[in-house]
Amino acid sequence: MKAVVYKEPFSVAVEEVDDPRIQDPTDVVIEVTTSAICGSDLHMYEGRTGAEPGIVFGHENMGVVREVGPGVATVREGDRVVLPFNVACGFCKNCLAGKTGFCLTVNKGFAGGAYGYVSMGPYTGGQAQYLRVPFADFNCLQLPAGDEHEDDFALLADIFPTGYHATELAEVSPGETVCVFGAGPVGLMAAYSSVLRGASRVFVVDRQPDRLRLAGRIGATPIDYSEGDAAEQIMEHTGGEGTDKGIDAVGYQATVAEGEEQPAMVLNTLVESVRPTGMLGVVGLYVPSDPGGPSESAKKGELLFRIGRFFEKGLRMGTGQANVKAYNRQLRDLIIAGRATPSFVVSHRLPLDDAPDAYRRFDRREDGWTKVLLRPGM
Ligand code: NAD
Ligand code: ZN
Repeated sequence: MKAVVYKEPFSVAVEEVDDPRIQDPTDVVIEVTTSAICGSDLHMYEGRTGAEPGIVFGHENMGVVREVGPGVATVREGDRVVLPFNVACGFCKNCLAGKTGFCLTVNKGFAGGAYGYVSMGPYTGGQAQYLRVPFADFNCLQLPAGDEHEDDFALLADIFPTGYHATELAEVSPGETVCVFGAGPVGLMAAYSSVLRGASRVFVVDRQPDRLRLAGRIGATPIDYSEGDAAEQIMEHTGGEGTDKGIDAVGYQATVAEGEEQPAMVLNTLVESVRPTGMLGVVGLYVPSDPGGPSESAKKGELLFRIGRFFEKGLRMGTGQANVKAYNRQLRDLIIAGRATPSFVVSHRLPLDDAPDAYRRFDRREDGWTKVLLRPGM
């Protein structure tokens, strides 16, 4: 089959690889209809992780079941399904508690598993024609047959639940004010989820005009940090108080981009932007090892977090991978009911062969390249 294969930093190619097959009785194999490119893929693409050449990318996958292992009870050939990016067993301590992003079975010694992601287990990615799905009864979310809502449903694999997870970590409640750092697909989904949860005002910080425009379209207030300190702008908008809640949907990449010796993290600006005793939700990735980082300490993931200010303000913080499974059924039903349309972030729908060019342009954050969906059947 054809698949998107990592070659070297800033290079992927579409190549022939082995077809996936049923390995465990609880597996299914799906024919991929949509697999999205994620900001998380760019960490590997830019060579900032230890990703080995030859790995197949793609953790945001949906498709139609083509092969079913003998131990699968509920999934049938022909079912249309979307898969959480987390590969999870469903029966370990963490899965039983709904923390499927931290499954203890699939990837021992590390937090959780994922398709096509360095250090997150042996699972091949879905930017390909076919994909093997382990623990299929647990990991397949059933979708209505046909091709309706393909773009919306594709976002249930990661960014919609991840954005929602950020609001869950930050405990966003009706009537509250929220600031979201990053207007990438994840930040926009966090802002959208804040609106769905009844936030009274949502501020979205970025410097990409096209992405800030999208934030405006869902009723958020765009804050352009290239025009002045983001925290100061948020203070002005909130009468000097700060927002009730804050979300980091940028992660460590901002520190790399700035290229400073002791880079100021978005997290520190977030601390300045939220009112005392507020809650922070951090879904932007902070990886433990960062070979491309600007300094020796940054290479080890030791970034400068101003815990003094965090303590002084009595803030609290939640972090980590999204437990997609905890929210994807509910978010699917909001889509079916016509009460959520996350696909407003989708900018491109492309055949697999266009992946190398799409990676290049999404990585440069070219104007209008917000979210790319690859369609292997196109
Ligand atoms: P992205 O790279 O497309 O978006 C990041 C945005 O942040 C960009 O628009 C960029 O312009 C903006 N930005 C950079 N520096 C900034 C700063 N100093 N202040 C404000 N904005 C700034 O990526 P994405 O797909 O939206 O993902 C965002 C982060 O979320 C990534 O780190 C990704 O790995 C992570 N992620 C986490 C999970 C999870 O489960 N926790 C899931 C998916 C993605
Ligand atoms: Zn993703």
